[in-house]
Amino acid sequence: MNHHLLLGLSLLLASSAALGAGAFYGDPPDATHPWAIHDMNRPQPPRVEPGTNGSAPSDAIVLFSGKPEEIEKWVSDKNGEPTKWEVKDGALQCVPGSGYIRTKEEFADCQLHIEWTAPTKVEGDSQGRGNSGVFLMGAVEVQVLDNHNNPTYPDGFASSIYGINPPAANPLRAPGEWQSYDIVFRRPVFKDGKEIDPGYITVFVNGVLTQDHTPLEGGGGHMKRSSPKPFPEKGPLKIQDHGNPVRFRNIWYRPLPKRFVEGGEYSRMSEEATAKKRAEIAQGIREDAAKLEGQAKMLRLLESLCYADDEAARSSGLSLLEGFVKDAKGTPVAKIESKKGDILNVTKALRYLTKFKILPEDIAAKKDLEGIVKAREWEKKK
Ligand code: MG
Repeated sequence: MNHHLLLGLSLLLASSAALGAGAFYGDPPDATHPWAIHDMNRPQPPRVEPGTNGSAPSDAIVLFSGKPEEIEKWVSDKNGEPTKWEVKDGALQCVPGSGYIRTKEEFADCQLHIEWTAPTKVEGDSQGRGNSGVFLMGAVEVQVLDNHNNPTYPDGFASSIYGINPPAANPLRAPGEWQSYDIVFRRPVFKDGKEIDPGYITVFVNGVLTQDHTPLEGGGGHMKRSSPKPFPEKGPLKIQDHGNPVRFRNIWYRPLPKRFVEGGEYSRMSEEATAKKRAEIAQGIREDAAKLEGQAKMLRLLESLCYADDEAARSSGLSLLEGFVKDAKGTPVAKIESKKGDILNVTKALRYLTKFKILPEDIAAKKDLEGIVKAREWEKKK
């Protein structure tokens, strides 16, 4: 067997061990982490079918995919009336002079995808060439501008947070080619008039990072320095009419959950919220244990103690453990091999539980089982 094959095999074994191990594997929960490391009780990430070439993933809300009737998801920002922007060749096109458009839909924290292209016929310079803009919550402009060989003030550059922060790079394609913006937006959060989070924007332009978790300073804007301010709960997405027939396509967003943890500090769990969550996880495991029997029930009950102690679960788990040990000790040597897997499994669990002081170090069951393991030389290196 060659080295790479061996490495591959050991990786495979390591990952299947992680999968199969479930409980009693990684470090247990602590005061601010309700889950163990590599915790199989933790919910699996929800399945999302990805899109292709900018098309929306399965859980996205589509604002424009190229269909003419999707114009009805947008209105004129001036008066809420139907917009004069046009859908042409699968693109939503700005009709200069008709004004900004906004979505009827209102939302806040999101992942937004939008593609745009500046007119092929190059006209104007600086801010006058292929100018539009994507306004998150109708307030913060991620600049749209044809900056292909077109210098301008950096905080007004394509993918700048207009008036706040220039982009870190200029990865624009030539006018007439499609440019993609992938934006992660977090609104500012205030509590009792105090800013507890300034809000952030991350932007990728054509796959290149241009805004890296850039903090907001209010809404930004033209000529005036803006300062932090609270935002409403939700707002529309607006697209600017800056007098250029910029075209857009593949506009969709995925709402992002609030990063607040109920009863917790911002972005991380408080001890109080962690304790509450741990009690909830322990309860779920005990409900699962109630449907099981024998060794599986015992291990599940003992596992629940890693999250939150409970007298009934502890005494029921320990009583099952006592029965298991009694049975193991009473098994004749001729038959003990058939219980090797179970005994090693429970021994491993007891080592974990005592190591992390969930059960007392001197628990008799551990000594008894380790005695059998040692006598049978089950852990002797080959
Ligand atoms: Mg603009």
